[in-house]
Amino acid sequence: MSLGDPRVTVIIVALSALGACIGSFLNVVAYRLPRECMTIARPRSGCTRCGRLIAWYDNVPVLSWVFLRGKCRGCGASISVRYPCVELGTALVFGWLGARVLPDAAFEQPMAFGSAWLVLVVMLTITSVLIALALIDLDYRILPDELTKSGIVLGPVLAFCAPDMQHGAYLISLDSSRWSAAASGVVGVVLAGGLLWSVGWLGSKAFKKDAMGFGDVKMIAAMGGCIGHWALLSLAVAALCGAVIGIVVRLVTAGRYIPFGPFLAIGMWTVMLWGPEIWNGYIGLFRP
Ligand SMILES: [Zn+2]
Repeated sequence: MSLGDPRVTVIIVALSALGACIGSFLNVVAYRLPRECMTIARPRSGCTRCGRLIAWYDNVPVLSWVFLRGKCRGCGASISVRYPCVELGTALVFGWLGARVLPDAAFEQPMAFGSAWLVLVVMLTITSVLIALALIDLDYRILPDELTKSGIVLGPVLAFCAPDMQHGAYLISLDSSRWSAAASGVVGVVLAGGLLWSVGWLGSKAFKKDAMGFGDVKMIAAMGGCIGHWALLSLAVAALCGAVIGIVVRLVTAGRYIPFGPFLAIGMWTVMLWGPEIWNGYIGLFRP
């Protein structure tokens, strides 16, 4: 696949534009979902200081923020740089997932590769939910049931729809069994959720205080629902990232607490894309 090919360019640019819009929506979800008084659709978005409603031309992902120089058009209150960053980040991730997940042939004959597109759609959906969970956990230290519990139920369904996502083998074959993927999703819920729950339970016994939120348990259970036993590798990656970044943050900011949800999101995403590579690399460490 070459990025100079116009078919590839059009599809990747379209996916990135979609990602920017989804990123804008995720900003809204992250702001509103934990606030019980609001729904996702209503009321219309407005400035949190002066209440001025945001017109469509001030709501274009990334560009509006740059054009307004990060300030409300009404009162000049500053708009957090996190909004365009989330939009830009989601755009990059969407475009990049497209380039990585779709086989070359899917760009040449988009209509003939329905299953590859389905895997992509499922992975984009999971990615969006992970971004929302990470943002909400950073802001409020919670992982809302709306996302985690529905993930536990929908995970095995998504695995059934796109079994190749689970094996990290979407680039190799597109004919894994749906039922075995769904079944391993159910096993993943019990295995990953059960493991983290046990760790938390042991921790609370050992340190006489709650070491692990139950939200984290539900989140990893949902991850297991999607990618089966691979969620255990996600947990290891999350714990490793959490330890490294946790130490750095502690040194720099003198002991600020950071939630575990964003690391679980990073772990899930990395394993969805590079699970087998990470595992083989790890095993390779022990070979002479
Ligand atoms: Zn304002």
